Order: sequence, then structure tokens, then C-alpha cells
Amino acid sequence: MTEGRLQRLRAILAQEGVPALLVGSPYNRRYLTGFWGTAGYVLITADRQLLLVDFRYVEQAKEQAPAFEVRRFDRFGETLKQVLAELNLREVGFEKAHVTYQQLEALQAAAEGVAWKPVGPVVERLRAVKEPEELARIQEACRLADAAFERILQVLRPGITEREVALELEFFMRRQGADGVSFDPIVAAGPRGALPHARPTDAVLQAGQLVVLDFGCIVDGYCSDITRTVVIGKADGRAREIYELVLRAQEAALQAVKAGADQVAVDQAARAVIEAAGYGDQFGHGLGHGVGLEVHEDPPRLNRTAPSQPLEAGMVHSVEPGVYLPGWGGVRIEDLVQVTEDGCRILTQSSKELLEIG
Ligand code: ZN
Ligand code: ZN
Repeated sequence: MTEGRLQRLRAILAQEGVPALLVGSPYNRRYLTGFWGTAGYVLITADRQLLLVDFRYVEQAKEQAPAFEVRRFDRFGETLKQVLAELNLREVGFEKAHVTYQQLEALQAAAEGVAWKPVGPVVERLRAVKEPEELARIQEACRLADAAFERILQVLRPGITEREVALELEFFMRRQGADGVSFDPIVAAGPRGALPHARPTDAVLQAGQLVVLDFGCIVDGYCSDITRTVVIGKADGRAREIYELVLRAQEAALQAVKAGADQVAVDQAARAVIEAAGYGDQFGHGLGHGVGLEVHEDPPRLNRTAPSQPLEAGMVHSVEPGVYLPGWGGVRIEDLVQVTEDGCRILTQSSKELLEIG
């Protein structure tokens, strides 16, 4: 896998006139090398690939990144200086989204006469289109999330707290083999559902309340992400109306997803449905985000403010419209999809009927 990724990266770097790239951001480092350690730097040139790690990670790096020359450093700046001299590099790209001003100063101080060139999200662009092995892991993470939703339907009842529900979601997914959660589960009951990123509290679920459940897990490094909104007891007319609206918006967006479709247009497909019903202002976030090693990846970014950009086959992203009414609550419905040439494959399979619990 690593070989193909390096080849594609080198083609991009050649196109952009960057003779070498230094990568220190954790997910990009892991994607390029296969090395899972929490620290280290990758240096990619036209014909060499090095992984610089400290004492703690030398053996792990050799094992997990066999395609790389592993170098140990004690003082990173000194080792970097040696390596750049050895490779005769006068110009090196750095990831401008991930390097702080202070780190750039350190790079500049380490190697005099080397020009540091800011480089955009080149590795992120590679990561956006998933390989079959990556898709299989994401699919498995989705399967566990679906199983967790089924499980949680047995747990939900009046009297249980948001925190207990969140804990059960996490416990179930880990017990079923997930490495962990892809983010702390969101369980937001009643009026708290109006907060798109609510944290679970000791609030007790009550009959008649809508509950927004947004969660996912990590399998072999890859994330899932799903949201369902259910009702405790009977749904009233308004809950039904808002739910049906959000579901129609989600379906409109799912219809619009395919390779070549503009990411902004897919957001608009859902937004138009919600705006036409008069709730445009209550859908204040984007329609979706890329998912992979990280639960929020960009590209793709399906959002009003995103640049116009076509979706590509093999991208995996969320489709998650919502309507949030302060003081009342909220509804969000989220699936993870894989973009295909003529549409999309929906990776999360949990029911989207409005479920009335108990
Ligand atoms: Zn989510
Ligand atoms: Zn999401």
C-alpha cells in the first residue's frame, strides 16, 4: 500500500516543483509509512524515503515501515541537518497547515541555506480517495456502529441518563472489537438536541423527547460516524414534521452524490429542501465531511463555504443535515457513504424510520 501512496505523492510533488517534503503530522505520517508511533518525521525526496524517530520508536518504526530508511535522532535539528546535507537538499517543503511558527523557526535554525517551502494539503488529497483495504476497515467500523445502534434501542427508556447511554454505546463498540470511539458519543435529549455538538450530561431521558445519538468507532485505525434521532415514547406532530423534513433533505443529498458532482452542490441539494420549508437558518453547519483515519477529514468538505470541487469515486464522507430549534430540540440524520462512479454506496445501514421507543 505504502509504495503506491509514495508514487502518487511524488507525482504531485514533481508537479508542484517541490524537491522534498517533510511530514510531521501524525495521520499523514502514519498514512505514508504505516508507522503508528506518536512522534517522528518523514522525509520524502524524488528517490529516497526516510523516517526519523527518537529512541523510543526505532524498533517499531523498522517493523511497521519496512519501505523506509529509519534514522534515530537524539536532537532532531542536528540529525535533520546531517540528512539534508547528505541528500544535498537546498529546498524542502513543509506542511503549512501543521507546522507552527515556532517549529518553522526551529527548522530554519537547524539547516542554514535550506529554503523551506510551504506546501498545501497534498497528503490529505491522497487520503481522500480510499484504497480497497481502507474501505474494508471503514465498512467494518460502520458495521459495529450499526450494531451499537441496535443495541442501544434495547437500552433507551425514560429514566436513563444521557451519560449512561453514551457509556453503553462506547462499551458495546469496544467489547465488539473496536479499537476505541472515533469521538466521544453525543447523546442529546429534548432541548439539548438543539446543540449540534452537545456533551452527554446527567439529564434524564423523558417520554416525548427526541434524542440525538451521534457516534462512531475505530477499527484498525479507520473511523465510522453515524447519527440517528429517535423518540422516547410517542412523537408529536412537530417532531414528526421536522424529522420527515430532515430525512427528505438527507435523501435529496444522497441522490446527488456521485463521482464528478460538486461538493457544494451536494450540500445545496439538502439545504434547498430545508430552506424551502422555512428552516434554512436552523441548519447552520455543513452537510458532510470526509472520514478515514480521522473522523473529520478535508477534502472532501460538503459545505456552503467550501471551494467548488468534484467528488471522486472512492471518497468516503458523511451526509448529515440537521434542524435545530433552541428550547425545543433537534433532529440530525447522518450516514457515511462511499462515492461511486454513478452514485454512492451507503455504508451505515441502521433504520431511518422515526423510531418510537417503548
Ligand atoms: Zn457524526
Ligand atoms: Zn459527522
